[in-house]
Amino acid sequence: MAVYSFLEEYDLAGKTIIPFVTSGASGFTGTLDAIGDLQPDARICTKGFDVKHANVAAVTEDDVNKWLDGLSILEEFPQASSIASSTTGEEESAARAGYGSQPGQDTAAAVFDFETQRVMLNSGYKMPLNGLGTYSLHGDTCVNAVKSALENGVRLIDTASAYGNEEEVGRAVREAMEELGIPREEIFVITKIYPGSEMASPEASIQACLDRLDLGYVDMMLLHHPDRNDVKAYKAMEKFVEAGKIRSIGLSNWYVAELTGFLPQVSITPALVQNEIHPYYQENDVIPFIQEKGIVVQGWYPLGGRGHTAELLGDPVISGIAAAHGKTSAQVILRWNLQKGVVVIPGSSNPDHIKENTELYGFELTDAEMAQINALDRNEKHDWY
Ligand code: NAP
Repeated sequence: MAVYSFLEEYDLAGKTIIPFVTSGASGFTGTLDAIGDLQPDARICTKGFDVKHANVAAVTEDDVNKWLDGLSILEEFPQASSIASSTTGEEESAARAGYGSQPGQDTAAAVFDFETQRVMLNSGYKMPLNGLGTYSLHGDTCVNAVKSALENGVRLIDTASAYGNEEEVGRAVREAMEELGIPREEIFVITKIYPGSEMASPEASIQACLDRLDLGYVDMMLLHHPDRNDVKAYKAMEKFVEAGKIRSIGLSNWYVAELTGFLPQVSITPALVQNEIHPYYQENDVIPFIQEKGIVVQGWYPLGGRGHTAELLGDPVISGIAAAHGKTSAQVILRWNLQKGVVVIPGSSNPDHIKENTELYGFELTDAEMAQINALDRNEKHDWY
């Protein structure tokens, strides 16, 4: 009650609340939500410090300092707002943010770790920040592209039932695991089920994806587009998550209106939304909306998509920035995405391009360069969805 009185008496709008607590066993329970209700305009730190009474004597100054050091998240994502928190480990905490909170609630944006080149999803699994898109790759071209990507250190592969190449992707991954000794757990494969008949019979469609890929489990499954059966299909994916056959689930081609209607109807917060994003179609209003829900954003057509790449890669603003860094236009565009917190999955069957598209971490765009690229937005979609 003392805390209630304090929060009712003072306006903490714009302030940051960093919670710490001692408790018998319950931890924060609903306290952070209650603080969030009373102080909706305050930022509430996502990593509170929770010490059980029984452990108080064992807590050292070092423990507290480690906790404080880990709070740089506040500098990086000042928009972070209310979220349940814990000291029980980054992964469990992150997992709870997605799976325990109500889908649709604002929570903390996921943090891109440029050292490990991974992001922690709200499902508790880490996903690489750059991958290979396989749309329009078939047969040996697809197998070779995926193997070339894996040889060059790429660990994220995007496919879909609609691409008709899940079997090739699965074969390439299995062969690369065997030939290069890459453990299955290091590779992150995304696939998608399609509207219409696939979403009308989702269990069979999901199982068919698992069978075609033949990789034991799928790291991420997305609904490819909104559909009249999308809630039913998503709930089927939730069951496959419970059964351990899918690790994370998400959506593709879902924008603000679609997400607002969809999220309250499902139990597991999507871990990912994959949408069209490139300098000519930036989605600057949609990206923060998604990220503030603790959902990671991934961009398709990062290079503009086939038929549009020449114009985008030849854009004088982008080529100028590329020349200043001794990088290619493709690398600058991909890096611009990463610095906006958008995961990239450029498509390519060219081993040189595949390698080039991995070299994104040894340079950084300045704020002015980011602003120059942001100014190229034309709201120009390169596909209908
Ligand atoms: P993209 O990545 O924007 O562009 C691919 C084109 O760029 C290819 O023609 C490729 O040619 C070229 N390219 C790649 N790297 C290059 C480089 N470093 N320098 C010069 N050219 C380069 O388009 P996308 O592959 O269609 O889209 C990316 C991925 O997003 C897809 O593969 C798919 O996985 C996903 N996607 C999802 C949806 C959805 O609805 N969820 C829709 C579309 C796409 P080369 O082969 O010669 O390198």
